[in-house]
Amino acid sequence: MKKVKAMASEEENCENFEERVLKLVEAGYETVAREAIACKRCPLYKSAIRRVIGKGSCNPKVFFIGEAPGKTENETGIPFYGRAGKQLDKMVEYMGLSEEDWFVTNTVKCRPPENRRPKASEIECCKPFLVAQITLLDPKIIILLGNTAEKSYCPERKLEWGVPVEHEGKTVLKLYHPAALIYTASKIEVQRAFIDKNRELWQ
Ligand code: SF4
Repeated sequence: MKKVKAMASEEENCENFEERVLKLVEAGYETVAREAIACKRCPLYKSAIRRVIGKGSCNPKVFFIGEAPGKTENETGIPFYGRAGKQLDKMVEYMGLSEEDWFVTNTVKCRPPENRRPKASEIECCKPFLVAQITLLDPKIIILLGNTAEKSYCPERKLEWGVPVEHEGKTVLKLYHPAALIYTASKIEVQRAFIDKNRELWQ
């Protein structure tokens, strides 16, 4: 198996997207994680305590994409660890998924300072890790948790909430980010209706 070449230099430009994805996929999942842990390709590494690579099954039906690591995720290295994580757990339970059925990560692996949204350039720079993870884990469906996930995975499209589409050979569905359900409780019922309408996609 080919090895990915040495760690990228600090804030190296992020060109050659396809080439990077291909090398990561060929190198395998553990190398993707190792590369992401050592990565300095965008300025976000400066505010990261720990890289947040992802959690869940290595053979998932559903691949969730969130936004970016928050404070607790930055400290633990685990995505969706705090209140949003509890909401995600409730959502996953409502979807009828078991532990082996799902995986979750974010658009970027390092926490943006001041909890700001990741910039387009940072999302683009980190995207090869995301695409390599999706390629290697090969889920049935990708669920974009909010608009930032949409900007990362299919930036040229504007998806409707709760309406599945085909994108680059994968079924993609945009749902509300679990954090949005904490701040706007009325969205919980709407989210459940989206889930009910689309259950056959992961069952
Ligand atoms: S956010 Fe992604 S591209 Fe930027 S330094 Fe972290 S791992 Fe590298």
